[in-house]
Amino acid sequence: MRITPIILTLLIFTFGELSQPLFAQPILIPSPITGDQKINFILLQVNDIYEITPVSEEGGIARLATLKKQLLAENPNTYLILAGDTFSPSALGTAKVNGAQLNGRQMIDTLNRAGLDFATLGNHEFDLKEEEFKQRLQESTALWVISNVTDPQGKLFPNTVANHILTVIDTDQETAKIGLFGLVLPSNPRNYVKYQDILTVAAQQTAELNSQVNMTIAITHLSVDQDCQLANQQPEIDLILGGHEHQNMAVETGENQPKIYKADANARTAYIHRITYHLDTQKIEIQSELKHLTADIPPDPQVAQAVNEWVKIAYEGFHKEGFEPEKVIAEIPISLNGLERKVRNHSTELTELLAETMRLAIPDTEIAFFNSGAIRIDDILLPGKLTQYDIIRILPFGGIIVAIDIKGNLLKQVLEIGQANAGNGGYLQTAGIALIDNQWLINDQPLDPNRIYRAAVNNFLLTGKEVGLDFFNRTHPDLKILIEGPDLRQTFIAELQKRYNFLKNYDRI
Ligand SMILES: [Zn+2]
Repeated sequence: MRITPIILTLLIFTFGELSQPLFAQPILIPSPITGDQKINFILLQVNDIYEITPVSEEGGIARLATLKKQLLAENPNTYLILAGDTFSPSALGTAKVNGAQLNGRQMIDTLNRAGLDFATLGNHEFDLKEEEFKQRLQESTALWVISNVTDPQGKLFPNTVANHILTVIDTDQETAKIGLFGLVLPSNPRNYVKYQDILTVAAQQTAELNSQVNMTIAITHLSVDQDCQLANQQPEIDLILGGHEHQNMAVETGENQPKIYKADANARTAYIHRITYHLDTQKIEIQSELKHLTADIPPDPQVAQAVNEWVKIAYEGFHKEGFEPEKVIAEIPISLNGLERKVRNHSTELTELLAETMRLAIPDTEIAFFNSGAIRIDDILLPGKLTQYDIIRILPFGGIIVAIDIKGNLLKQVLEIGQANAGNGGYLQTAGIALIDNQWLINDQPLDPNRIYRAAVNNFLLTGKEVGLDFFNRTHPDLKILIEGPDLRQTFIAELQKRYNFLKNYDRI
């Protein structure tokens, strides 16, 4: 145990009057002030974690726990920071236990065990209903630092603060004060959340913290463009620890401006920032290392046990819903690319296969389309065995396939918005639809605005909640619901089994 001045004072106060001290008091001799007094500390940064087990051989909370322990051994002033997105959407989180989905309980429990110190909210935290969202915050042993969201009355959510001053005490009892504040992009509107303007709040927070701290760090869950704007507008910030893009990056934003760091999703990588603060010159040195969480890092046994327990609980839930997550359903000869940066901008073998599955699921359907945000795996499934759990990972939200009759002019409008949504989850994936030389083709024929087309869509798309598609909902007069069809995931599983007919080979596994 390190003895801080507070503890030392307490010991003297408690035992000072006793003639026989109960134990020898530690004597603290401050080292003489030399020319270069400095304080070293480590920030271990992760962001966008939805899986507690490794994904494609990398990541896993048990390895993250080990990495934090290793860094703590190197420097007791090590802090684990999450830059948003973990309550949702997770494949395991969709498992129902005692009638309710886990919805991130497994994430919070394992991150608690891994020693998460600070976190900010990501847009997906608000996927949860208000009560569950607050419940997850209360379950977390980390402090959630978020400056630009409150409830509609302006009240902070439980276990959140608008900023935090972290006092780092070195072995020489020198201290540095680190100001933390947090920002999230307002992309997930909910009636229990009030967002404030990111840059306005950032200016207020920076001004408030600057007079009190030696270093200011923004923990953000913003698009990288928004992070760059933040760096340009608030060059007083010393470091931006970000998330949201799911891929690692280290972005230089300009001279005397903070750098932006983001790690890969699912703790496949983590950023280790070794920071030195020079007390005399007030200079800050930051050495950042991108660390892959591979098999080189052994899983922490206790956290691994908790992870296995959650997997067991979730799999039991999936079994009750008719899934067999561990069951091999097919051996695929191709890669299925579900990386978000791919599927939110292009079609891939995976999106084509899924759209085609939807079109085939209901007879007489000409076309199919779905929002690319339905695909959450953010990973590439390589040729080889595919399990039911992989399908749950691809489509954690599940849902059903709905057959509709849609008028050509409405279809065109929807497709154009889907195209304009490139980069976000509202980008549409299609079957039987092509855009060639700025012309929409429906099964190779030009789209006729007056014709009625029969289409298969996922039910989420008809909620009006997709970006720019609020008008596209069940009440639109140019749209008729025909069939509330089969389960999307079960249909996809069946199609894969049929297409890559290796089921019999794996029946015994
Ligand atoms: Zn995000």
